[in-house]
Amino acid sequence: MASPDILPTLADVVRMQARDRAGMIAYEFEGRQTTFAQLDANTDRVANGLAALGLGKGDRIAYIGKNSDVYFELLMGAGKAGVVMTPVNWRLAPPESAFIINDCTAPVLFVGPEFVDLVRKLQGDLPHVRSIFTTEGGAAEWPDYVAWRDAQSSATPATPVGRDDVAIQLYTSGTTGKPKGAMLSHGNLLHMVQAEDRDHPASWNDWSDQDVALLAMPCFHIGGTQWGVNSLCFGARGVVAREFDPGKVLDYFEQSGVSRIFMVPAALQIVVRLPRAAQADYSRLKTIFYGASPIPAALLRECIDTFGCEFVQVYGMTETTGSIVALPPADHLEGGERMRAAGKAMPGVEVMVRDDNGKPLPAGEIGEVATRSGANMVGYWNLPEATAKTVDSDGWLLTGDAGYLDEDGYLFIQDRIKDMIISGGENVYPAEVESAVCDHPDVAETAVIGVPDDKWGESVKAVVVLRPGGQASAEDIIAFTRTRIAGYKTPKSIDFIDALPRNPSGKILRRELRAPYWEGRDR
Ligand code: ATP
Ligand code: MG
Repeated sequence: MASPDILPTLADVVRMQARDRAGMIAYEFEGRQTTFAQLDANTDRVANGLAALGLGKGDRIAYIGKNSDVYFELLMGAGKAGVVMTPVNWRLAPPESAFIINDCTAPVLFVGPEFVDLVRKLQGDLPHVRSIFTTEGGAAEWPDYVAWRDAQSSATPATPVGRDDVAIQLYTSGTTGKPKGAMLSHGNLLHMVQAEDRDHPASWNDWSDQDVALLAMPCFHIGGTQWGVNSLCFGARGVVAREFDPGKVLDYFEQSGVSRIFMVPAALQIVVRLPRAAQADYSRLKTIFYGASPIPAALLRECIDTFGCEFVQVYGMTETTGSIVALPPADHLEGGERMRAAGKAMPGVEVMVRDDNGKPLPAGEIGEVATRSGANMVGYWNLPEATAKTVDSDGWLLTGDAGYLDEDGYLFIQDRIKDMIISGGENVYPAEVESAVCDHPDVAETAVIGVPDDKWGESVKAVVVLRPGGQASAEDIIAFTRTRIAGYKTPKSIDFIDALPRNPSGKILRRELRAPYWEGRDR
């Protein structure tokens, strides 16, 4: 593979691929194929078009749309002009999406066909937006993206852009509060691929240009965007799915020769439980990457049995440009304790578990996970105080997650510190309890929360979704769980519910489940 190691920006990688793999397919979207040569030419025009609109280094553009090849053209085209791409999470309520468009102060907005009406309604509340383009036509009052792009100069953009310049402003998923705009540089986006040891690359992190990467997770989260950038770096074919559609994921596996995919556990659960999943053809599939939230052990075993390919868990966050820790396929083979780990620090990444005073803790002791690497964000946009609280003066970024390292450097994530339940003075991490409850054959999924308790301070409650036809009672589930985990961790009560509230990245919104129990009280 031509090595993208020393290339400082996305633009340099695009140019390298255009030179080395001109006629190969960079992105494929609903039958439309873009070669690397076309990607290079299209992104030059985007950069020139943005400059012609008066945008320069450090200005933002916003994109509200589902996944598409246009998204990557805009990311890389903006990058060539030093302009910062801001994808907007459209699954939020309209005022929340508007918050992001306004917060980033983008004067130019690109709108996918599904959001034309939404933007028409919001327009009066978007004071910064001066120009709007539609990515697939459909609005007489706004120009079409392709027509605009193709009318721009094809000259090589002149703005000098460097590794430390911000390429994307990505909002955190908002599990714990309002999303924050994490500014990620070109170097941040390229870190994961470039830090890999080229002489001894991990096989699962060393793709070739024969690989086909299915992009099925939303690009407004780091998981989707990082996947598309990695695919570009390796010269692989990025097959872009407009959105996560479980049946279509199986179609893509069978018809597009998908070899690598990233899915969050909630998405894996839906795909693996499709009736068709047991018979589908997975012969081209090499590696499933999963992460972004804890995976119940039972679900992971189900996936390994059904898909029969390599599995890699990744752990990371928006602020670390995604994956910084990975659990390789070999650690999935034996099962057992190690399969509960999130993995080991990836090349070029330091991971530390520390106490409240910032002192590193010995193996086995639980503390806050901190990390330092070239993938740590530049900072939060317009939130210097939040940035200072998150990244210390030595460059360690605090994740807000509780965890421990074992003797061999494997990181075990317990859960978010904010979600920890303190019951009778003992710390209980919901993820561990959820995994035990999910082992019950009648349980489809569960979320564990702390509810006020006069005696214990908080007590453990499991909110359970039963599988179709599941009959288990609250007593059955409590008795079953008690055989797997300590008494103080076992739920004292169970609520049954039809579906769990999740955010678009599949994370359980435990604060929504907790709210009715904590009304009028502090937690
Ligand atoms: P916000 O910070 O706005 O509340 P968020 O933390 O959900 O949102 P992300 O950056 O998308 O936003 O998510 C990062 C978090 O996801 C991590 O801090 C961690 O809690 C969780 N996470 C990521 N990977 C894993 C994993 N492999 N296992 C368990 N949890 C994970
Ligand atoms: Mg977070």
